[in-house]
Amino acid sequence: MSSLNVSIVTPDGPVYEGNANMVIARTKAGELGILHGHVPLVAPLNIDIVRIKLEDSEEWVAVNGGFMEVNGEEVNILADTAEREQDIDINRAEKAKERAEQELQLAKDQKVDELMAELALRRAINRIQAKNHR
Ligand code: ATP
Repeated sequence: MSSLNVSIVTPDGPVYEGNANMVIARTKAGELGILHGHVPLVAPLNIDIVRIKLEDSEEWVAVNGGFMEVNGEEVNILADTAEREQDIDINRAEKAKERAEQELQLAKDQKVDELMAELALRRAINRIQAKNHR
């Protein structure tokens, strides 16, 4: 199968550089499966998993927002934060999830920053999913 050149970059530096047969990402407009020769596009990404499919394996990367650019054989993702599954600290994500759930409850009771707590919760759940998908 023709391969794609995939890069995932954050303000802290590169997170993933490599070839893939297919990239599956959920954009704000829905899930996209990118193969070699996909029409060029730029799409905003959610807090979600980007799946990088190779011949007989698949890697999950927890991506937090940003954009995906597809151009010929290039798939470039520029995200606020991104972690490969092997780099995710599951205890940290579980603690962040608990904290965000408590903050969300507090926010609902006291009408403080509910959106911030919701986003923190989504980041934590996304990391836990990327880490635990096998
Ligand atoms: P926390 O409350 O645990 O800091 P957060 O969602 O507020 O979580 P971010 O601000 O999104 O964290 O990320 C800050 C930095 O820490 C980024 O470089 C991100 O990749 C990294 N990071 C966050 N959570 C984890 C995790 N569970 N495992 C590995 N790296 C993480």
